[in-house]
Amino acid sequence: MDARIVLLGPPGSGKGTQAERMEDELGFVRLSTGDLLREAVRNETELGKRAKEYMDQGLLVPNELVIGLMKEKIDSLEGGYILDGFPRTLEQAEVLESITGIDAAINLDVDDEELVDRLTKRRSCPDCNAVFHLIYKPPAEEGVCDRCGGELYQRSDDSEETVRNRLKVYRESTFPLIEFYEKRGVLRNIDGKGDIGEIFEAIKALL
Ligand code: AMP
Repeated sequence: MDARIVLLGPPGSGKGTQAERMEDELGFVRLSTGDLLREAVRNETELGKRAKEYMDQGLLVPNELVIGLMKEKIDSLEGGYILDGFPRTLEQAEVLESITGIDAAINLDVDDEELVDRLTKRRSCPDCNAVFHLIYKPPAEEGVCDRCGGELYQRSDDSEETVRNRLKVYRESTFPLIEFYEKRGVLRNIDGKGDIGEIFEAIKALL
């Protein structure tokens, strides 16, 4: 697949889950801004130290930090890719547009109460970035990643208070991107509620 895809949608809408399947089953390269930032935080790089204070509060990391990071990564890619969590502001979308065209912006739509439930019961793998849910998508062995055997953890920004902040930030800063991509004729809306496999089939049918 050599399409260039942006995954839109609020935190918890399934971007990571679907990107993981698109990577594993359709051969896309997945670039997750959140995963790259968390790696920088773990490695205590200069970027990581600066990003952490925003991420811990559920705020967006400033554009000047994120744009430099993503521009370098996108420039190094060939073939198809999925951007998971980028762009998240209009400024980021404009920079992306100046680097490359986008074939589809897939918007996963889920209501707020379901998002809170999904995020607070989410468990993540620090090694391969796979995501699980204690009830809807539990790992085969408790606390162990099905994909790579890593030890699952709860992200510090998946606490209820921080999640509510992230949803507010989403509405203010990221929601306007739906209109941005609609105007460019590449927006594709998908109902993000329900079965993970069915949502994946709906995405596949669009590509
Ligand atoms: P995610 O893993 O996509 O939920 O992102 C986790 C956190 O990383 C967000 O709450 C932000 O603090 C930061 N982040 C991720 N992507 C971006 C972005 N495109 N712009 C600014 N901050 C971001």
